[in-house]
Order: sequence, then C-alpha cells, then structure tokens
Amino acid sequence: MSKLLIVEDEVAIAELEKDYLELSGFDVVVETSGDIGAKRALNEDFDLIILDLMLPNMDGFEICKRIREEKNVPVIMVSAKKDDIDKIRGLGLGADDYITKPFSPSELVARVKAHLARYERLIGLGVKENDVIEIRGLKIDKTARRVFLNNEEKIFTTKEFDLLTFLAENPNHVYTKDELFREIWDMESVGDIATVTVHIKKIREKIEYNTSKPQYIETIWGVGYRFKV
Ligand code: CA
Repeated sequence: MSKLLIVEDEVAIAELEKDYLELSGFDVVVETSGDIGAKRALNEDFDLIILDLMLPNMDGFEICKRIREEKNVPVIMVSAKKDDIDKIRGLGLGADDYITKPFSPSELVARVKAHLARYERLIGLGVKENDVIEIRGLKIDKTARRVFLNNEEKIFTTKEFDLLTFLAENPNHVYTKDELFREIWDMESVGDIATVTVHIKKIREKIEYNTSKPQYIETIWGVGYRFKV
C-alpha cells in the first residue's frame, strides 16, 4: 500500500484529503506543522507528499527545497492563491505538480495516482528485476541461480540447476536422456546418460512432494522426461 504524507495546517482540508485518499486505498499521515512535516518527510519513507504552501513554523517553499536536496519522492504542492503557484513554478523548487484551493478531492486522488504510477515507472527503469520462472509453488530465480519451493530455498548443484531450468523453460516437451545430456553437459564431460537419471532423481527429491508421483518432472517411459505445466 502506498504511504502518503499530507502537510496541511487547515485541519478540515487535511481531513477531507485524508478521507478521500484512504477510500482510494492509500495509507495517509497528516502533519499540521511545517517543521514536523519536514522532519517526517526527510526521515521517513513516503511514496508521495502533498504539501501546503502556507504553514506554521516552516513554509512549503522551504520544505520542498529540503526534500529535493535529498529525495526524488513525488511532491504535489497546494496553495490558496493562483499567484503563488506561478511563483513556485518560477522558483523551480522541483515540485511535481501544483493544485490551487479549492480543488475537488477526486481531482487530487487522480493526480496522486498519476504521479505514483509515473514514479513507479521511473524507478522500474533503474532497477532490473530478476529473471524468474514460477510454476505452482516452484520458483526458479535464473539471475540469482536459486530455487525455492513454497518460498523455502532448496540447494541445487550447478548441473541440477541447469537441468531443472532447461526443462522448466521448455515445458511439455519430451526430451530423451541423450538430448538432455548433450544439452547440459559439454562434450568433454565424463559420464553418460545415466548421469541424467541420477540428476533427475536428486532434483525430484528436492522439489517433489511425492517422488513416485512427480508433479513437475514426469517420466515418459521408454522416451525420457517432460516438465509438466
Ligand atoms: Ca495553509
């Protein structure tokens, strides 16, 4: 749930904003004093901040400036005067949006949602997610080379991991032991197709609830193995 901070000294307005935003599923904190609002904005993790301009102890200009020195969190500035909005824009404080009072609560909610979505997209560009295969409680994290069954990590050797991943990436395809051996072990490897059987057995012991009735890797008698989805 996204957590929002409203810094607003007019309690009736703050409560109205809070009610509407909570109805939209946000977790909302209100501060009515500028200095305390600034402290919380800087020390806590909020997903978005709604900042009134005229506040006791520290005004919205100063708070916005301090937030921008340290954080990229979206800031929506609220003011009673259209002139002030022009002034804030002119100062280039780095607020993401400006709203003039009075505004409709639904407009505020729409803007909050738009800025959160935009911010999440921006963050998403910088953080690359791990490449993960997930099938019925089995999670194979290809980037980290880790395997989890119902969120519990199972320790895999390199070849066990490669074999499981290869089968899971090619579901419903039957591979012979020969094909699997060629795919996973390089040509110089010592071993034969019995190695495949041994590895399949070890993988099953780690991920199957009942190894005689496998749910993931099926044996196709006389042919080979198939990862079932
Ligand atoms: Ca005010």
